[in-house]
Amino acid sequence: MINKTPRVRFAPSPTGYLHVGGLRTALYNYLFAKKNGGEFILRIEDTDRNRFVEGAVENLIETINWVGLEYDEGPNKDGNVGPYFQSERLDVYKKYSNQLIEQGDAYRCFCTPERLTALREEQQKAKLPQAKYDKLCLHFSKEEIEQNIEDGKSFIVRLNVKHGENVIINDIVRDRVEFTRDVIDDQVLIKTDGFPTYHMANVVDDHLMGITHVIRGEEWLSSTPKHILLYNAFGWELPEFAHLPLLLNADRSKLSKRQGDVAVEDYKAKGYLKEALLNFVSLLGWSTSDNEELFNLDDLVEKFSLERVHKAGAIFNIEKFDWINAEHLRKKDKLEILQMLKTELTQSKYKDLELSDEYLLLIVEAMLERVSFVKEYIDNSPYFYERPTTYDEAVIKKRWKDDSVELLQKYIEKLSVLNNPVKEDFEIALKQVAEEADCGAGRIIHPARVATSGVGIGPGVYDLLFILGRDEVIERINDALKVIPEIKANIS
Ligand code: GLU
Repeated sequence: MINKTPRVRFAPSPTGYLHVGGLRTALYNYLFAKKNGGEFILRIEDTDRNRFVEGAVENLIETINWVGLEYDEGPNKDGNVGPYFQSERLDVYKKYSNQLIEQGDAYRCFCTPERLTALREEQQKAKLPQAKYDKLCLHFSKEEIEQNIEDGKSFIVRLNVKHGENVIINDIVRDRVEFTRDVIDDQVLIKTDGFPTYHMANVVDDHLMGITHVIRGEEWLSSTPKHILLYNAFGWELPEFAHLPLLLNADRSKLSKRQGDVAVEDYKAKGYLKEALLNFVSLLGWSTSDNEELFNLDDLVEKFSLERVHKAGAIFNIEKFDWINAEHLRKKDKLEILQMLKTELTQSKYKDLELSDEYLLLIVEAMLERVSFVKEYIDNSPYFYERPTTYDEAVIKKRWKDDSVELLQKYIEKLSVLNNPVKEDFEIALKQVAEEADCGAGRIIHPARVATSGVGIGPGVYDLLFILGRDEVIERINDALKVIPEIKANIS
């Protein structure tokens, strides 16, 4: 139930690229906001200086813009609650951490890394279920603390987790999840460099930015009790939480780079369409009641609901992704595909060919049902861009007969007298040859295909011949007649 206008956020840490899981989070946030007339905010969580990667933010924003998940507030956009880069909000976190210290809900910890390591080791040896800070610094007097600060001792700020009831999350996806309060560590809120931790900055910003629903990956579920304690300490109203299921490889292990690409930009580079990417990613953990599978972004906005997000991990099935890509490609306007093919060609070995739009458009149409990606217009049918240099031996073995040479010569004769033949003319001529020779059309079709394309599969043979054009077909058949009989002799 949504009783206020949602304000949701995608809050990535710029690690260098946008992970497909991140895209799923961004998409679900976007869909939820749009569906319910709310706002979608992009907030860059860049407070971990050790993980700073040059250009990562630009890359991230570029990828989000490319897929078309337009945010209402965020970097380079107006908004009343910015800045939207956490690194520009350090004073804000400091102010709120001081407030917690004053209230007794947080404290400065001066322990050295050596002491903390020793403590952890001791606790591990004692087989405590969970290593926890022992609150030593909580008990320092005001004077001791002031002295430490004066002495220039570095410190962190920790949340003071007090004894109390278990922490309960009423998650939209996962329902009720209960965490034992006693195992929650005195979480670091501010690090020695003065930067906030994820927990501190995330909660403060979600509150100050008016976030109503926190929609994020399940890997953050274990952080949520700490966040709830923070909200409670501040006396702030909790947002709703929705933790999205994990993304899994086919073997149910966590989706990882080792088993395939995880960066959106890798899929973009491989030629996946953004429509397909959004469609595929939308189904990683969500479905409609009748299990529809093909959507554009508008359909998704209309149909999406958090209530239909699954609990179970979502398997990343690349075959399905390819199928979705093919389906979206087929729905595109032919002229748009033409433009994409032209771009692909400029990056291929055929970049210097001068091919007319008319010619390429015929290829687009003839191959549409046979490709899943624009670049397959090139890879799957190189014979449209260059003459065959090899001929498929298996096809020759099966399809090239003793009379093939003669039949093809007759076909050439018929073609050579045709003026500007259209597709049907190629068919009529071929059938005439077959009739005169009293054989089936297949007897000519297969040799003609291998002679002109080098292979045994492709678009309809009359499409192939018509697209190549009369003169080219004649020349290719003549070339093939010089070599195929010899190949046939060698393999028989
Ligand atoms: N900065 C976190 C991330 O990189 C945000 C998690 C959250 O949405 O709370 O995913």
